[in-house]
Amino acid sequence: MTKLRRTLSLFNTLTRQVEPVVPVLEGQVSFYTCGPTVYNYAHIGNLRTFLFQDLLKRTFRAGGYEVRHCMNITDVEDKIIRDSQGGLPEEASNADRHAAMRALTERFTAVFLEDLQTLGIQPADHLPRATAYIPQMIQLVQDLAAKNLAYVRDGSVYYRISGLPAYGCLAHLDREGMQAGSSVDADEYERDSVTDFVLWKAAKPGEPWWDSPWGPGRPGWHIECSAMGMELLGDRVDIHSGGVDLIFPHHENEIAQSDGCLGHQWVNHWVHGEFLMVEGQKMAKSAGNFFTLRDLVEKGVDPVALRYAIQSNHYRKVLNFSFEGLRAAENSLKRIRAFRKRMEGEGQAGGGPWKEALAPEQRLAQARDRFWAAMGDDLNTPEALAELFTLISDLNAQDDHVALTREERDAVLTFLDEADAIFAAWPHEGTNLDAEVEALIEARRAAKAAKNWPEADRVRDALKALGIVLEDRKDGTTGWRRG
Ligand code: AMP
Ligand code: ZN
Repeated sequence: MTKLRRTLSLFNTLTRQVEPVVPVLEGQVSFYTCGPTVYNYAHIGNLRTFLFQDLLKRTFRAGGYEVRHCMNITDVEDKIIRDSQGGLPEEASNADRHAAMRALTERFTAVFLEDLQTLGIQPADHLPRATAYIPQMIQLVQDLAAKNLAYVRDGSVYYRISGLPAYGCLAHLDREGMQAGSSVDADEYERDSVTDFVLWKAAKPGEPWWDSPWGPGRPGWHIECSAMGMELLGDRVDIHSGGVDLIFPHHENEIAQSDGCLGHQWVNHWVHGEFLMVEGQKMAKSAGNFFTLRDLVEKGVDPVALRYAIQSNHYRKVLNFSFEGLRAAENSLKRIRAFRKRMEGEGQAGGGPWKEALAPEQRLAQARDRFWAAMGDDLNTPEALAELFTLISDLNAQDDHVALTREERDAVLTFLDEADAIFAAWPHEGTNLDAEVEALIEARRAAKAAKNWPEADRVRDALKALGIVLEDRKDGTTGWRRG
C-alpha cells in the first residue's frame, strides 16, 4: 500500500503567497536551515526559530515525506572572532588564533546541541561546521569572479550586485535605492544601505586566517551557507528557512551567490519565522532582554511546556514571551495527557443513552481531516490544536454516557500518536511497571493453580527479564522486589 502523502503549503517569502511545496524529487524534501552562531548560549528567541523548523520538518515527515535536513554551524564570523581572540598576545601565531576560536565554538556547539535535545528537537541529517568547508567557499568565490559577479579590492572579494538583475527579489528591494559600486565589509547591515557585499575578507591583524588565491583571509558569513548548502543538498533545494531578520541581507545574498553561480533558481521555497518578543521588543543578546533555556529550566520550567507554548502559536505571528503563556501551555498539555490516559484505559459504564451527532469513528475522521487541513495550510497550529481540543471535549462527553469501545479508543490513540509525532508533547508514557508486574504475578498464580508448569515458568522468566525477583511466601502469596 502506498503511503498517503498530504499536500502541505507554506508561505513563500519570495512570492509572498502560500504555495504547496512540491519537492524536486517526489516525496523527498531537501531542507536547509541557517544554524546558530556559536559564541554564546542561544536565547529562547533563537530557539523559537529552531522549534518552528522542527515543527515544519516533523509535519512533513508525519505527512508522508522524507526530509533531508541540513543545518550549518557558523563557527567563524565577526562576533566569534571578537569574543575568542581577546586573551591572546599581539604576536600570537595563526595556529594559536585558530585554536582559541575553536575552543569557544566547540564549547558552544555542544551547549547548543544539548539545548536541542532538551527541547526534543530532532537532529539534522547534516550538521556542517563552516570551518570544514573553506575550500568549497573559495571555489564558489572563484566561480563568481569567473562570471564577473565578484571583484577584488585590497585582498578582499566583493559581490557585484549590479551584475544580477534579480538582486533584491527576496526582500522586495527597490533597485533605485541600491548603492551599486560601494561596498560593506560587515556581515550584518541595514536595508537602507544596500551595497556590494563581502564574500571573502582580507585578514586584519589579530584575526585567524586561511590561505586563499587573494592572500590570507576568511569567508564572509553569507558565502558560508551557500557553499555548505550546495555541497550537501545540491543545486536545487526545496525549502530554506531562518528567522525574519535573515531575509535581508543574509538570504538575499545567499540567493545572489547561489543563483548567480548556478545560473538558475537554487531554492524554491523561502520560509521565515517571526520573532519572540519581550515586552514589545525583539529578544536579543544586544538588548539584554533574553532568557536562555537553562535560565528557564533552573526556574522550574518544563522544556516540553516551553516547546508547546511556542509551537501552539502561529510561526508567522510575533509572539510575546510570558510566564502566564507557559502556565497556559502546561494546562493544555495536562488536558491532552489526561484524555490520552482515559483512552488508554477501559471505558466505564456510561451515564445513560446519549446521541452524538456523529458516531465516535466519524467524529474522529472529521477531526483528523480538519487537523491536517490546518497543518497543511501554512502550519496553522492554533487551528489544528483547536480541532484537537474540540474532539477531546466531544469524546469525553460521549465517553461519560456511552463508553467508547476498545477499538474506538485505539483509533483515538493512533490519532494522538500521529499528532504527537509533530508536537512531541503527549507521548505514550509506557505501562506502569508495578501494574505490569502485578498482572504477571497473577498470571503465574493462575498457571500454577491450573498446574500449567511450563506457563508458570515462562511468566517467571518474563518477570526476571524485567529485573524482578519473586519471593514465594509460606502463606501461598507471592511478594516481589527489584533485583
Ligand atoms: P544566530 O545564532 O544569531 O545566527 O541566530 C539563530 C537564529 O535565531 C536565526 O535564524 C535568527 O533569525 C533567529 N533569531 C534571532 N533572534 C530571534 C528572536 N528574538 N526570535 C526568533 N528568532 C530569532
Ligand atoms: Zn545562512
